[in-house]
Amino acid sequence: MGLYTKKIQEALGLNEKQNNVFYGDYKGYEMTLCISQQGMDVFLNFYASDEEKYSVAKLFQSAKTNKMVRTEVSIFGIHSMINGMTFKSILKKIIEKLDVVVDYMAQHEILGVGHCMSCGATGDNLQTIRLNDVYVTLDEECVEKLTMVVNAADQEFAALPNNYGKGIAGAFLGAAIGAVAWVVLYMIGFVSALIAVLAVFLGNYFWVKFGGKSNSVKTISVAVISLVVLVLTCLGVYVVVVGGMLAEANNSTPVLEFIMSNKELKGAFIYDMAMNAVFTLIGVAAQYASTKKKDQAQRIRISK
Ligand SMILES: [Zn+2]
Repeated sequence: MGLYTKKIQEALGLNEKQNNVFYGDYKGYEMTLCISQQGMDVFLNFYASDEEKYSVAKLFQSAKTNKMVRTEVSIFGIHSMINGMTFKSILKKIIEKLDVVVDYMAQHEILGVGHCMSCGATGDNLQTIRLNDVYVTLDEECVEKLTMVVNAADQEFAALPNNYGKGIAGAFLGAAIGAVAWVVLYMIGFVSALIAVLAVFLGNYFWVKFGGKSNSVKTISVAVISLVVLVLTCLGVYVVVVGGMLAEANNSTPVLEFIMSNKELKGAFIYDMAMNAVFTLIGVAAQYASTKKKDQAQRIRISK
């Protein structure tokens, strides 16, 4: 049982179906409420024309207060994201808005619980499914239709051409651009580890652009390629610069040995290498987070 389970049960009559996801019948309308770090998401399902859905969404948005509220029309009704300072104030806001909207829907004879939310049909073949985090009641036919749409979307993603060779070439191109930028900046006196973030970004960009699929192989390949190329670039620059100095001074010590025996040089060398590695990882983490978010948005999951 979550922290707010009892309060939400008492206030709205919803039951906790999963951690922080509540579902039930609110005054004749099907409702899912999700608690997130950003606030609460309210999904109110009903069967109505698109025009009526817009009217309900508008009314929900503007009832009492529209501060920190964002309401939109969803496939099966409306969805609203509600924020506030405290759990209590958000809940109060939701109840005030719901009551205005539920009154309106009852007056306009908008169909709620007991009907398919997609076609309005009644009958004994209604079932409640979960579409991502939202619970929705549909009749058998509409569940089948929805399943087909979701499966088609999954198949489309699976059928996308995937060309690892070209993807890897793209990752190398991104890393190479980063490496050139790193060298140019180094030559004019900047050591910018931030370049590593750019290299990872470009690597991901060209991976997809060249025909690689956006998946975990991309994340790992781009990370490894960017890291290797930038670390080698950093090493290369030190070898060339220090090697040049040694040659001028007629010193025959091998370059790496010289770097490691000079305390200051060794410190700078290790620092630059480490910064490149750290910023590559930062770039990878940032890209991974954004890709994952996009993938989730595209993927629809149905379950009972
Ligand atoms: Zn239906």
